[in-house]
Amino acid sequence: LRKRRAIRARASDPSQCQETGNGFVLEDVPHLTNFLPDLPSYPNPLQKSQAYAIVKQTFVSSEDVVAEKIVVQKDSPRGVHFRRAGPREKVYFKSEEVRACVVTCGGLCPGINTVIREIVCGLNGMYGVDDILGIEGGYRGFYSKNTFQLTPKFVNDIHKRGGTFLQTSRGGHDTHKIVDNIQDRGINQVYIIGGDGTQKGAALIYQEVEKRGLQVAVAGIPKTIDNDIAVIDKSFGFDTAVEEAQRAINAAHVEVESVENGVGVVKLMGRYSGFIAMYATLASRDVDCCLIPESPFYLEGQGGLFEFVEQRLKENGHVVIVLAEGAGQEYVAQSMYTVDEKDASGNRLLLDAGLWLSQQIKDHFTKIQKMAVNMKYIDPTYMIRAIPSNASDNIYCTLLAHSAVHGAMAGYTGFTVGPVNSRHAYIPISRVTETQNIVKLTDRMWARLLASTNQPSFLNSDEVMLGKVDRAIIEEINNRKITSI
Ligand code: ATP
Ligand code: MG
Repeated sequence: LRKRRAIRARASDPSQCQETGNGFVLEDVPHLTNFLPDLPSYPNPLQKSQAYAIVKQTFVSSEDVVAEKIVVQKDSPRGVHFRRAGPREKVYFKSEEVRACVVTCGGLCPGINTVIREIVCGLNGMYGVDDILGIEGGYRGFYSKNTFQLTPKFVNDIHKRGGTFLQTSRGGHDTHKIVDNIQDRGINQVYIIGGDGTQKGAALIYQEVEKRGLQVAVAGIPKTIDNDIAVIDKSFGFDTAVEEAQRAINAAHVEVESVENGVGVVKLMGRYSGFIAMYATLASRDVDCCLIPESPFYLEGQGGLFEFVEQRLKENGHVVIVLAEGAGQEYVAQSMYTVDEKDASGNRLLLDAGLWLSQQIKDHFTKIQKMAVNMKYIDPTYMIRAIPSNASDNIYCTLLAHSAVHGAMAGYTGFTVGPVNSRHAYIPISRVTETQNIVKLTDRMWARLLASTNQPSFLNSDEVMLGKVDRAIIEEINNRKITSI
């Protein structure tokens, strides 16, 4: 018993780091054998599959790892590595003993249905699992709704639709009730699709499952349209969102080109990270200025937004601004009476910065500059979230789902999946929830954007030189004294 407790204590930290002399760090994910050491492992049924016969040698060895840092200097530490995702030669579960479930939580994002479909089809097609339950309406569905059986036939067409076939919700995460339910229903594989909040919830479920010594694999599939999940290269639905945003930008451009002094403002998703706005701007070339939460901006005075808008109106007769929804929140909060509202999951509700910016520009030019402008404000955010995923996201979602299935079948637990430098890996959940992926203002991509739009950087070179940008900027944005309004 003492030995088992010691093993459990070691396994309770989902991130199990092992360091070697040359600076190589393996951030491993827990395996069910860590706290249930006597259980057997079976030959992978894929060994008998015709399709996999040719690629049998592609079973992933437990020694295979994926490096977080792809560019390293000679003789410098190799850095963090994760266990490579993929099918193992031995699996932990017998196919006929698997009872899996799938749940989706948080906001919508293109591709959720593809991930659901591919978990079901992957479990069934590759491993012969046919007991897969759908949990309806997010975490609270575990204890407040009936489940239903998911079959390949049932989910065959769902990837062609947006939204989530299983429905979703915010709030309602009750770890004990959820794990009681997992236990009562005899579920032994839990697939959880959702954003940062959902993954935090998944980590708690894993911990409780482990505490109770249950033979249950918990796998997270990270979902965020904003691409703000740390470690992984890109989140699913992001490409689709950037593509769909082009239609909104194009519409704004057509509108403002067709009138005198046309000013188009397009609000895109991006609560804390401006990736969609940045990539949509770079892809479009019709955007004059892109505003993101990571890069503080100001309106008045030299080098400010008003001056830039005026200059573009004089040069081209129109201007298009793309704004991520989290940009300029500090200004909006100051300019109106606001209540600090939160949603059911405890996330702060954002104020409509697009509406605020449109009003500010309109007021400035009509009242102060005595110059009439034609303002066109487009908010396509809900339209973008609701569309089905495009071809590349569909393939990506398939890989994510299959990686999760291979990992759970192999007995890994408390992990999340995603590509790290283009190779899919099993990442400790805590690793993706502790930080957020943000646009680094010192990265080349932001420099490319500035070069492409020729917009002001709104930063003085001292700030850049002093390295005050990047992560610290988020804290700074909230504390920055706004002098321009
Ligand atoms: P997105 O922000 O991309 O829409 P999300 O997963 O972050 O997705 P949330 O509404 O924040 O969306 O959370 C989804 C679910 O996760 C909710 O059911 C919520 O109760 C649960 N959750 C959120 N944060 C936590 C937390 N810290 N611990 C446990 N559960 C959480
Ligand atoms: Mg979230």
